[in-house]
Amino acid sequence: MTYADSSGVDWARIREDFPILREQVRGQPLVYLDNAASSQKPRAVMDALVEFYEHSNANVHRGLHELSSRATDAYEGAREKVARYLGAACAEEIVFTRGTTEGVNLVANAWGNASLKAGDVILLTEMEHHSNLVPWQMLAARTGAQVRYLPVTAEGELALEELDTFLTPAVKIFAFTHISNSLGTINPAAELCRAAKKVGALSLLDAAQSAGHCPVNVREIGCDFLVFSGHKMCAPTGIGALYGRRELLDSLPPWHGGGEMISSVTYEGATFKSAPYRFEAGTPNIAGAVGLGAAIDYIEAIGREAIFAHDSALVDYAQERLAELPGLHVLGPRRGRGGLVSFSMDAAHPHDITTYVDRFGVALRGGHHCNQPLMRKLRLPGTTRASFYFYNTQSEVDRLIEVLQEVQRFFA
Ligand code: PLP
Repeated sequence: MTYADSSGVDWARIREDFPILREQVRGQPLVYLDNAASSQKPRAVMDALVEFYEHSNANVHRGLHELSSRATDAYEGAREKVARYLGAACAEEIVFTRGTTEGVNLVANAWGNASLKAGDVILLTEMEHHSNLVPWQMLAARTGAQVRYLPVTAEGELALEELDTFLTPAVKIFAFTHISNSLGTINPAAELCRAAKKVGALSLLDAAQSAGHCPVNVREIGCDFLVFSGHKMCAPTGIGALYGRRELLDSLPPWHGGGEMISSVTYEGATFKSAPYRFEAGTPNIAGAVGLGAAIDYIEAIGREAIFAHDSALVDYAQERLAELPGLHVLGPRRGRGGLVSFSMDAAHPHDITTYVDRFGVALRGGHHCNQPLMRKLRLPGTTRASFYFYNTQSEVDRLIEVLQEVQRFFA
């Protein structure tokens, strides 16, 4: 099998947009395969940041001067782009956050504190990243609610035949990942949200690994909340967004207090703005939002279907080549996975593998990938993960295989 991509996109030209990919690491050309942790940034996003700081920088929503209104237009324009990108009904359904983690914490606090009581159930899955797990455990500790986990099968998929057993009327929210960051599994988001709705539970989709990699439309999926991080999809770090259905967001109290989120304040108390502003206390990450808007423009110019086709072809090819290596075991489903592949090698511990391949300029990730409970269930100390994005190439996969062969020789 060879890498086969029928999108017609000139990926080699697109790769040129990423200056860092020309970097030498330890005297060798960089092979960056740690995209699930954070993606690289195209020149267009860096230019948008420079342009903002050179021509529009000021605080938003406050000043009555020209630069402040430019900054406000840029910030609110980015919110509209995020709304369109996710298929939200309006920009008011988008709250800017620092990323996925902050989005989950926002919902767990603003919604969860007021809505849960002892006996209620928060349903997660066994494949959740710590950021879609720990905030719910903390909420359970505050409210007396219980956290339960839909099991993962030996093939690395959700045990959908057990969904009815777990999704009882006691479940008040079902929060799950769209694409697993350690298994690569793509979960049937729309089906899971429909099932949650049937029992009267809200749904929250963790789109950290999907928002920049495939089409994601909140109305087609039917989720109540969705969270994602900009830095995994070409935008700067420190910016992301929470989508929430408008009437739902409007019904929630704020979770952080401060400037920007109030209607009026007296010494006795305060009243709050409507959503999304009541959830954005203090000066927001204005340049980050502008960078996220630029990243969305960049990704949309390529097309999310094309990106998904490219990543899928590359991950299929990688699996095929990895199968040539004796003593290497790939986790997760064989087909229909996101653009990442996690594996263990009999030869060495994931940390040793990752450190060793770095000598050759190959950036992988080794460890538990913020999935400690899942690794414990799988009886693994962790895995080594190669995660792809649209600028990765078939020859980089070939280089990965060569370097893993070196690993086998070195640790034999
Ligand atoms: N959820 C998933 C599935 C992830 O892969 C990650 C990051 O790797 C996160 C959540 C957390 O994202 P962030 O650290 O950007 O908040």
